Amino acid sequence: MARLKIRLARNLRKSILRGHPWVYREALAEAPALERAQLCQVSDAKGELAWALYDPRGPLALRILSLGRAPPAAAEFEARFQRALSLRRSMRTGSTDCFRLFNGEGDGLPGLICDVYAAVAVLQFDGLGPSEFWDREVIARWLLERAGVETVVEKLRRNKGAPAAERSVRLLAGVACPDVVTVRENGAAFRVNLELGQKTGFFLDQRANRHYVGGVARAQNILNLFSYSGGFSVAAGLGGASRVTSVDVSAGAVALADENWQLNGLAPGAHVGVCADVFEFLKDGRDLWDHVIVDPPSMGHSEDGKAAAVAKYVALFAAAAAKTRPDGELSLSSCSSHVSFDDFLASIDEALSASRRRAQVLRISGQGPDHPFPHACPELRYLKFAHLAMS
Ligand code: SAH
Repeated sequence: MARLKIRLARNLRKSILRGHPWVYREALAEAPALERAQLCQVSDAKGELAWALYDPRGPLALRILSLGRAPPAAAEFEARFQRALSLRRSMRTGSTDCFRLFNGEGDGLPGLICDVYAAVAVLQFDGLGPSEFWDREVIARWLLERAGVETVVEKLRRNKGAPAAERSVRLLAGVACPDVVTVRENGAAFRVNLELGQKTGFFLDQRANRHYVGGVARAQNILNLFSYSGGFSVAAGLGGASRVTSVDVSAGAVALADENWQLNGLAPGAHVGVCADVFEFLKDGRDLWDHVIVDPPSMGHSEDGKAAAVAKYVALFAAAAAKTRPDGELSLSSCSSHVSFDDFLASIDEALSASRRRAQVLRISGQGPDHPFPHACPELRYLKFAHLAMS
């Protein structure tokens, strides 16, 4: 097959050589109309530059695969799988058996996600291009042989409007597993629903922040907003919180949070699951909490929508601050990649000013080390977390 060659119309040489993994379509001299994504050789005015995954659809046209002279061989990708595994060597412990093994571009594996839930590896592809490019069979075989799992499944991204009867999890290799897998995270047990859960089933990126919240939760009456399956709630309960209220708009998530609370032997009466829209919930009532946790879904999906996203964070954080008692605490998160750490801190500043509160910042952090990003691509440093002591 003739090698596909793509020329850049813009000078992105420096950025690509520094390790930035993306080129948008408008930077290409020509964008061939093809049926499927495929490997291509990228060049610019100075000559050959890199090998990339070319996606004929969508704005993200090239995902850089290698800077070598020869096209990347299967052995090169296997070496990256192995490197990713070795970087997670401290993740699998007696008290934790779930972690992200492949974080796409952050592991030199564009668009390829693999989350490990105990003995199950869940693959997910970030878009059609990566889904067409990566060889599932090769990856699944490697995972069974090297990654200490017995099952490899693929979790399809559920398209809006897809028939609900269609399953989103399919077995790729190994032994069949049930839809619900029980995992351990820092000693806490969680049921992860692979089929019905969001993303691959659990938000592994917040592991360290959940653990941290568990460490400060003793005797606190906590409000956990956007609680999903109760990750922060259970960590807080095990950390000695006197009571936790979990709020999520998904009834399934609230039920799972309750189940996870009980799975950990926590007092059933000390957890209140509320199925509600957080924005409505925050308008009602006069209750104040010792500690309010806010971990909303992504709000900004493009650079254009950034100002609107920041305004939404400001309003949300201000409303949460208003539910925090004097001398209480606030834990705030943002997972919008278009909102930088600076934007996040500015939105906290704005929210506190709007609610006429002040705070000490006790901790700032982000995604865990199993969610690495290339240093040249701060867009992939998407998770922001701040713990504040309010006055
Ligand atoms: N903190 C969780 C992850 C939260 S993911 C953890 O540690 O696992 C975001 C959650 O927000 C999802 O469960 C989603 O159902 C919920 N959600 C989205 N919009 C909402 C809204 N307007 N009100 C309440 N919950 C919402």
